[in-house]
Amino acid sequence: MPLHIHTPLFESRPLSLAAGRSVWLKLDALQPCGSFKLRGVGHACEVHHARGARHFVSSSGGNAGLAVAYAGRLLGVPVTVVVPETTTERAKELLRLEDAKVLVHGGSWQEANELAQTLIGPNDAFIHPFDDPLLWAGHASMIDEVAQAGFKPDALVLSVGGGGLLSGVVEGLKRNGWQDVPVLAVETQGAASLHAAAQAGHTVALERIASVATSLGAKRVAEQAMECLRTHPVESHLVSDREALQACERFLLDHRLLVEPACGAALALAYNAQALANYKQVMVVVCGGATATLEQIQAWLATCPE
Ligand SMILES: *Cc1c(COP(=O)(O)O)cnc(C)c1O
Repeated sequence: MPLHIHTPLFESRPLSLAAGRSVWLKLDALQPCGSFKLRGVGHACEVHHARGARHFVSSSGGNAGLAVAYAGRLLGVPVTVVVPETTTERAKELLRLEDAKVLVHGGSWQEANELAQTLIGPNDAFIHPFDDPLLWAGHASMIDEVAQAGFKPDALVLSVGGGGLLSGVVEGLKRNGWQDVPVLAVETQGAASLHAAAQAGHTVALERIASVATSLGAKRVAEQAMECLRTHPVESHLVSDREALQACERFLLDHRLLVEPACGAALALAYNAQALANYKQVMVVVCGGATATLEQIQAWLATCPE
């Protein structure tokens, strides 16, 4: 049995009314550790476990680290997560609740990741947050579930950080014969590494990340994301932090589910009739996110420029 669960898929009345077309939700926010990450991370951890790994190492203070911690606990494999000093107390608490050992090191993810790399012994597995074919194969299971449900959307909306979700979803579309279903790939303006790659024709390293959508904050997307742009219809879309935060609030009212701004970015596009004008039946990947709180979303909104 895989570590992730089958998640609900249904037509959202509030989003359909707002967007003026049929909007379906794939509710991966309901994965046990709060995000879609468990699909890919769970698959990678199972493969490494079967190959004899005795310790998992992650350098993500976000949903990827949480998914590794969850997978390790279920497989009986100890987990170490190295996070930078900027990681919130809430995120560290969630990691500890999954029995992970949390090490705090350095002022940025780069420094935390450098220490994490030194901890990887011969029987250990490092689990990357987005750049690994094992992750993409696991994320692709989301599209298998949609195909099994007998529903074929005519476009799909998802958010992009390092491009692992995009790579997995495109893999899933291809393996189900859905090469003709375009993907609307959404980022916030301050974390637009896919957008930069699409414009340049190759991956680009952003100088800095400036967005509340911390789970989208990869400075450079995986090469595989570039491959998706070349081989599949992908539209790159940008929303503001404010739009992403407002979508989080609105989605909480509409469906009683709290998600991170990273997920709010995709929802912001889905609430927008104009962005979806070319499509009749759109599916949104509600990717979730466990580390944001309502207080934090409201505080960000209060200080976010109009
Ligand atoms: C990781 C994550 C993303 C971005 O996924 P990538 O694979 O890095 O593109 C978006 N939303 C949430 C909630 C995430 O945890």
